[in-house]
Amino acid sequence: MSDESTPDEYPTLTCSRCDCRWNLAYELDELQVGNRAVEQFALDHHRHTGHYPDDITPWVADCQQCPETEPFLTERPANRFARTHARHTHHAVELRSPDSGSTVVTAAEREHDSRPR
Ligand SMILES: [Zn+2]
Ligand SMILES: [Zn+2]
Repeated sequence: MSDESTPDEYPTLTCSRCDCRWNLAYELDELQVGNRAVEQFALDHHRHTGHYPDDITPWVADCQQCPETEPFLTERPANRFARTHARHTHHAVELRSPDSGSTVVTAAEREHDSRPR
């Protein structure tokens, strides 16, 4: 992974669909997003192009009743979204991890019932 000639002070991302690579100097220096630079870039890339850069697989919170799905790059906000949505709407929300495991977060009234399936 160290055969690249860019300085390692900035992380880089590539996208084979766009045939492009970027270093994240803009995100770090202009947007000041710090260690969320990769996440910010990936979500922006998805927003503008409809796909994610290479090696980026999001967590997806997918409500079984609402049409929209919400992508997140880390578990914490994804989990939080799923739980809050279930809490407020009593909808079951499927939380899919990048490793392809999936959890269904159910409505608040059933949260103590944690039997598998
Ligand atoms: Zn792309
Ligand atoms: Zn819903």
